[in-house]
Amino acid sequence: MICDVCKAREAEVYQPHSGKRLCRKCFIEDVRARVKEESLKIGLDKANKILLAVSGGKDSYVLADTLASFIDPQKLIAYNITEGIHGYNRREQIEQLRKYLSSLGIELIEDSFKQSVGYTLDEMMKYSIGKGLNVSACTFCGGFRRKLINNAGRAVSADYVATGHNLDDEVQAIVINLIRGDLLRLIRFADKPIKLSSKFVLRVKPLRKVYEWETTLYAYYSGYQFQELECPYISTRPTLRAKVRELLYMLEDKKPGTLLTILEEFDKLAEKVRNQTQLKEELPTCKICGEPTSYGREICKNCELLISAGLLNYHQNLPMS
Ligand code: SF4
Ligand code: ZN
Ligand code: ZN
Repeated sequence: MICDVCKAREAEVYQPHSGKRLCRKCFIEDVRARVKEESLKIGLDKANKILLAVSGGKDSYVLADTLASFIDPQKLIAYNITEGIHGYNRREQIEQLRKYLSSLGIELIEDSFKQSVGYTLDEMMKYSIGKGLNVSACTFCGGFRRKLINNAGRAVSADYVATGHNLDDEVQAIVINLIRGDLLRLIRFADKPIKLSSKFVLRVKPLRKVYEWETTLYAYYSGYQFQELECPYISTRPTLRAKVRELLYMLEDKKPGTLLTILEEFDKLAEKVRNQTQLKEELPTCKICGEPTSYGREICKNCELLISAGLLNYHQNLPMS
């Protein structure tokens, strides 16, 4: 079977959402073109510096590789966090990514929860369980990761922070937030980022129109070795996401292209909602760490978690007046 695009090489990939059969080269080009289109829409090509939040997995490789295909790699800087999860060692993945990034001329900054929060994720969980808290590891992990990534973006004066979330991740998050009925949070998942605090570096997701199976294949075709080690805390992940994921895959299977359609329609709707929504004033800042927190809160969720786990003394950490 010949490739539907170049009509020259042998086709190797069938893309159910487009109905096309593609050769390896045209498949790679197709993914890059979608990432580029999404990136140009938000002006990533005009940025002076973009911080890439990388885990070392396939999506972070695809993020760096696709962006470097049309953005000067000197403008890209990668950032990785070691959460401190026993048995979930991604050292080799990071080393592999570092090698690849350095061949492109992209620097990699390494950080860890231990270094920047004071505790590994395992330690936070040990204390949290000891205090009888019923908070999942992913809540600690996701919250601190977001905070550290934003801090890193600010520290290197990045115009944007880019993450490797793919289409599957995005649509799952949209449906979950739709179920929760949080409009403000929901429209933040649209294609154009909203800045609710001057302390936030705008977050963008250049892979948001690329299916997860495509990022896997892209990394595989590029020779990027990835062993998807499963995080030991995955079983404690909120079950809603797993259910939503299952449902979405069932729909995608019945009607290929469903995820893309949901995202494209959502972007159009979000644009209308954004134009009609009076965005509130700047987010308040946490009394303890000074980072932005939700409206109506004095202490951010991260600091609150540390206090509840007995790892932070509220009064001791209040700024002196
Ligand atoms: Fe963190 Fe949860 Fe992901 Fe593990 S599964 S890395 S705890 S977010
Ligand atoms: Zn081709
Ligand atoms: Zn705080």
